[in-house]
Amino acid sequence: MLNQTMLALGTKRSCIRELFEYGLKQAAIVGKENVYDYSLGNPSIPAPPEVNETFVRVVKEMDSLAVHGYTPAPGAAEPRKAIADNLNTRFGTAIRPENIFITCGCAPALISVIRALAVPDAEIIAFAPFFPEYRPFVESNGVRFVEIPADYTAFQINLEALEAHITKNTQAVIINTPNNPSGVVYSRETLTKLAALLDRKGKEIGHAIYVIADEPYRELVYDGVEVPFIPTIYANTIVCYSWSKSLSLPGERIGYVCVPDEAEDSANVFAAIAGAARICGHTCAPSLQQRVATLCINCPPDLKAYDENRKLLYDALSSYGYECVKPQGAFYMFVKAPGGDAQAFSDKAKAKNLLIVPGGDFGCPDYFRICTCVSKDMILRSLPTFEALVKE
Ligand code: PLP
Repeated sequence: MLNQTMLALGTKRSCIRELFEYGLKQAAIVGKENVYDYSLGNPSIPAPPEVNETFVRVVKEMDSLAVHGYTPAPGAAEPRKAIADNLNTRFGTAIRPENIFITCGCAPALISVIRALAVPDAEIIAFAPFFPEYRPFVESNGVRFVEIPADYTAFQINLEALEAHITKNTQAVIINTPNNPSGVVYSRETLTKLAALLDRKGKEIGHAIYVIADEPYRELVYDGVEVPFIPTIYANTIVCYSWSKSLSLPGERIGYVCVPDEAEDSANVFAAIAGAARICGHTCAPSLQQRVATLCINCPPDLKAYDENRKLLYDALSSYGYECVKPQGAFYMFVKAPGGDAQAFSDKAKAKNLLIVPGGDFGCPDYFRICTCVSKDMILRSLPTFEALVKE
């Protein structure tokens, strides 16, 4: 006998992974250059040279037992301090190393936070369009996943719909900015209004509504757009961060949770997150990566190629008549499917070896996502197919 929920999760591939694997198979048949794969958000810019140099230096110079050994579960002392110092310098906060729990990336960070908040009848809210993994992360912890329809005008937050969906069981809302899949950055104005609403509703229902700030794209922004640090706007914020995208290290599995002292019941929230991580088998995040990522914490990402791709795709697709959400950050673009059915449209595109992700799993079945973390060459080769499809 097997746990049927786990069996279903393990059997049914995410539609993104399915497309990606289809692309690999198709490339073997028609040639790599004839497959235009926009499916997977795998950074296409290599990690900055400083990262590789730091890897080598840490391995050569640090005590081998310390570098490769277990650290305390929340992380080694210096990396936790480096993260707290970095946040305080940038955002004027007073975060202590004890507020930081280093994780194997954002996904395990999110799961631990969700699990820590998973009381009977709990509900966690996400705003469409949202990262599809939120649903299984939430539901597999016995929590109701509440989906707020998109704000189709600016792809900010639909606050009216949020207010209507908050109940006494609302434990948290998940915020992802810069957003996957829209690329939109939630403005200070949106976040301030959200904070006022959550404060008011929290008082009404008699307990805090936490914001879970999912921020793997915090550093990936263009045109100088501000990415407000949410704990400075709303005290009950728990931040989940990773270096997967900012330092192009998705395979190294390194990130953190930050529970600032200002968050309600913060010491217990932190302890419950540690407990949740423990039963997920977390002993510590990779010891070597803890050092490398935090020694490179001030290393800026090289965004030039992502920015060029963003402009190239946005301008080209808009000129063909596609309605695109203008991305301000991350490396995705969210496009309205001509005809209104993104699944049908992406099936048509797939038949022409153009792999785009239909938006159903993101909560927007009439949009599709393309990843802009691809090669410029591939974009140029794919443009005639985009143009032909919209004409059809
Ligand atoms: N959250 C969002 C919005 C993402 O897009 C991703 C990865 O693509 C993650 C979380 C997971 O990131 P990590 O590799 O740090 O686990």
